[in-house]
Amino acid sequence: MLEVKAPEEVLRLIRKEFRPIGRTETVSLPEAQGRVLAEAVKAEEYVPDFDRSTVDGYALHARDTFGCSDAVPAVLNLMGEVRMGEGTSIRVPRDSCVYVPTGGTIPKGCDCAVMIEYTENYGDGTIGILKPCAPGMNLVFRGDDVFPGKTVLEAGRLLEAQDIGALAAVGKTAVPVRPRLRVAVISTGDELIPADRKPGPGQVRDVNTPMLKALLKEYGAEPVDFGIIEDDEKTLREKAAAAAEKCDAVILSGGSSAGVKDAACRIIGELGELLLHGIAIKPGKPTILGRTGNKPLIGLPGHPVAAFTAAKLFVLPLLARLEGRTMQDYPVRAKTRESMNADHGRMQVNACRLESVDGHLIATPVRSKSGLITQLAGADGYFLIDRDCEGLPAGTEVEVYRL
Ligand code: AMP
Ligand code: MG
Repeated sequence: MLEVKAPEEVLRLIRKEFRPIGRTETVSLPEAQGRVLAEAVKAEEYVPDFDRSTVDGYALHARDTFGCSDAVPAVLNLMGEVRMGEGTSIRVPRDSCVYVPTGGTIPKGCDCAVMIEYTENYGDGTIGILKPCAPGMNLVFRGDDVFPGKTVLEAGRLLEAQDIGALAAVGKTAVPVRPRLRVAVISTGDELIPADRKPGPGQVRDVNTPMLKALLKEYGAEPVDFGIIEDDEKTLREKAAAAAEKCDAVILSGGSSAGVKDAACRIIGELGELLLHGIAIKPGKPTILGRTGNKPLIGLPGHPVAAFTAAKLFVLPLLARLEGRTMQDYPVRAKTRESMNADHGRMQVNACRLESVDGHLIATPVRSKSGLITQLAGADGYFLIDRDCEGLPAGTEVEVYRL
């Protein structure tokens, strides 16, 4: 009889005894959603590939505007306009400007853009600038988002919508991912009937099969239904062996405690090696873990609440281990690394990275100018600054949600 283990010991055991499955396949972006990236993706290009304006307005030389104001505008010659989706060969001399739309190319010579709201068109080929500009203002520079060699996404990341966006931005339209795990689901018990039948005396509907299949799908694995098996050790052993042959992991539910008819433990021991029988949690104590090679054989308690709890707490991390998937529980509490300004009057959503420093989670905001999708993809989560709040001092505790 194996001793009952604490939950954290079980997670350690999982890491120690199982390793990521090496198989990968290359899929196109639509199929990559919800899959685990098998290798880090590095950019081979600059994004953006040219200096861009983040505002509708005029590109100009910042120093031509120093000291200007509403009362004494800087008056600049209008050299023409940049069109969306086109480059520009205009060279802008001093005391001149060019109209640029949001996202338009910044012409050579200019070092900032001013919003149209802070200008006045005099209609005679000159533009008045009403506010001094700083170099770099309202620009995204070539390579600000990514540059060749920069890691866009780390291996092990579960690819979600923002990651698909980042991959599209760098032109990676096919990526190596882990194959979806095929997980066998077997329910055992003489009393069980399929959920679409009416129970007779002493019978109960099989809850675990549909529930565990749904949990596996929600997680991103492919459940394989092996049906309901009666409490017959020989039949169960044959089914479990066939399941282990076909699938990456096997989940049995029911028959996991020490009753006369509770065969799961013996069967798992015979098919492979028993690693664990009993976890110190309530509900979910009679949980079994074994393996044949790198394939987990899991015995869950029959009681549906216990089966769900143990599956959520231990089976999903186990599957994540097999996929090399990096996982984090959300929401989590973390402290901000630096002080943050907020836009008063609007709720501010701050994408952030999370790291553990001396056992505390630290949230570092991802500084993102408009449109830098890979920075969002590199984030671990986000926290909110309320619209009534003007900012947060460094070290403020925030709640970080999963992106
Ligand atoms: P066991 O782990 O086989 O001793 O079952 C414990 C309790 O869970 C018993 O009341 C079973 O009837 C019930 N049970 C076992 N498997 C299932 C299942 N698949 N769906 C619903 N209830 C189940
Ligand atoms: Mg039973």
